[in-house]
Amino acid sequence: MKVFFVASEALPYVKTGGLGDVTGSLPSALHRLGADVSLVLPFYATVKAGNLSMEHVMTSTLTMGGRTLPFTVLRHHQTLFIQQDELFLRDGLYGTREGDHPDNWLRFAFFSRAALETIIALGGADVIHVHDWQTSLLPLYLHVFHPDRHEKTLLTIHNIAYQGLFSPEILPDIGLPESVFTQDGLEFYGNVNYLKGGIVWADQVNTVSPTYAHEIQTDEYSFGLHGILATRRGHLSGILNGIDYSYWDPSADGALPHMYSPSSLAGKVQDKESLLQETGLAAEPDCPLFVMVSRLVAQKGIDLMLGTFDQMMSLSISLMVLGTGDTEIETALVAKAAAYPGRFVLTRKFDEGLAHRMYAGSDFFLMPSRFEPCGLSQMIALRYGSVPVVRRTGGLKDTVQDVHPKTGTGNGISFDDATPSEFLDAVRRAVRLYTDGDAFRRIQAIGMACDFSWQASAREYLALYHSMEASS
Ligand code: ADP
Repeated sequence: MKVFFVASEALPYVKTGGLGDVTGSLPSALHRLGADVSLVLPFYATVKAGNLSMEHVMTSTLTMGGRTLPFTVLRHHQTLFIQQDELFLRDGLYGTREGDHPDNWLRFAFFSRAALETIIALGGADVIHVHDWQTSLLPLYLHVFHPDRHEKTLLTIHNIAYQGLFSPEILPDIGLPESVFTQDGLEFYGNVNYLKGGIVWADQVNTVSPTYAHEIQTDEYSFGLHGILATRRGHLSGILNGIDYSYWDPSADGALPHMYSPSSLAGKVQDKESLLQETGLAAEPDCPLFVMVSRLVAQKGIDLMLGTFDQMMSLSISLMVLGTGDTEIETALVAKAAAYPGRFVLTRKFDEGLAHRMYAGSDFFLMPSRFEPCGLSQMIALRYGSVPVVRRTGGLKDTVQDVHPKTGTGNGISFDDATPSEFLDAVRRAVRLYTDGDAFRRIQAIGMACDFSWQASAREYLALYHSMEASS
C-alpha cells in the first residue's frame, strides 16, 4: 500500500496546531503496520532555517495566477518538500499577526497541484491522503487534469471551521474551469470554497473523531457544509486521532526537569514545584494548578472562563494559560493577569518546552471548547496525569468520561452546556475532587492508563485505504 500524505504542516518540521501533530505521527504508525507512506510539505522559511541536508529530486514548472511558477522538489527521509520561494519563503505559514497572507488562494492551490504532479512524476500512489482546506483542491485537480489515473483520494477534515473561501475571480488563475463553480461543486454563497472541493471530489472523506463526524452533519456544527456532506454520507466516517506515545511520554520527556511514570508520581510533584517557580506563581504546592495550552480563539471556549473569571479565582486555585491568538481574547486575558498577580500567569507565545512542563506540572487541564474536532491536548494531559476539565463535544466526548461520584469511574470532568455557569460548576467539582486526595489520585491513575496511542486508529486508516483501493 503506497500512500502519499499531502499537508500544509507536519512535525518535526513545522507545526501550528493539532494538524501538525497528526500528519507528523500517523505516517510512522502506518509505516509500522507495513504501509509505505511519504509526506509532501511546502518548503517554508522555518524549514529552510532548520538547515537539514536535503536531496534534490526534480524541478518542474506550473503556470498559475498568470505567472510561470518554477518549483524544486527536495527530499528529507520520507518527506518531499515543494520549494517555491516566492510563495513559501516568508514569515508565518498562513499569515502574520496582521492577518492571513492575501495570496493564500494561490499558495495552496499551487501547492496542491505541484504535490499532485510530483507524486505522478515519481510513479504515483495507491492513495493520496489530503488534509484540510489547504490541500483540498488536489482531488479536483486529479479529476480535471488526470481523469484516467488510478489514485484514490482521502480528505481528512481536521477542522471544518476553516474552509478556504475566496472570490470566484481566482478560478481561471488556479487553472480550474467555470464548470466546477456550481452549487454541488466549488460554489459556496458566491465564493469558491476549497474545503468543499475536497468534500465533493475526494473518494472518501473522514474526520478526526466519531462524534465530530456526526456533529458536522448538523446545522449547528457544520459552518454551512452539512448539505453537501449529506450527499457524501455513505463516504464519510470518523476516526479518532491518536498521539505519539514515544514523544508524549512523561517517563522519557527531555523537556521536563523531573520525569515520572504512573507507578511513581514523585517527579510530577517536583515538576509542579519547578513550574510554580519558573512562572512566578505564588501558589502553595497543595493548591490545585489549572492550566490551558491552546490557540486563543473563539472555538476554545475561553469566553466561558472569562465570563466567570472572578468567581473562579475566588476558589483556592492557581491558573496558567499558554497560547496566542485573537487580539480580543489576548487583551481580556492580559487584563485578568494584571488583576491576579501571582495567581494567574499568561504566557503569550508558542513554546513547545513550556507546554510539556505545563502538562506535567499541572493538576487539571482546562478545555471548555465550543467545538472540538478531536483535540489532542486532553489526550496529552491524560497521559501526563493532568485531569482534563472539558466540554462534552466532538473528540472531547469520545475521550473524556465524567467522574462518577458513586462508582468512582471516569477519567476527567465534563459538562454539556456552553455557559459560564456550567464551566464554573465543573471547576468547582474539580476543586472538590482535588480536596479528596484519594479520589483525585484514582481518577489521575485511570487517565494515565488510557491508551490514545495511534495503534488502533492507524489500523482503521489502513482498513479505509484498502477499502478505497478495492472499490475501483
Ligand atoms: P488545535 O489543533 O485546535 O489547535 P489540539 O488540541 O488538537 O488543538 O492540538 C493542539 C496542539 O498544539 C497540542 O499539541 C498543544 O500542546 C499545542 N499547542 C497549542 N498552543 C500551544 C502553544 N502556545 N505553545 C505550545 N504548544 C501549543
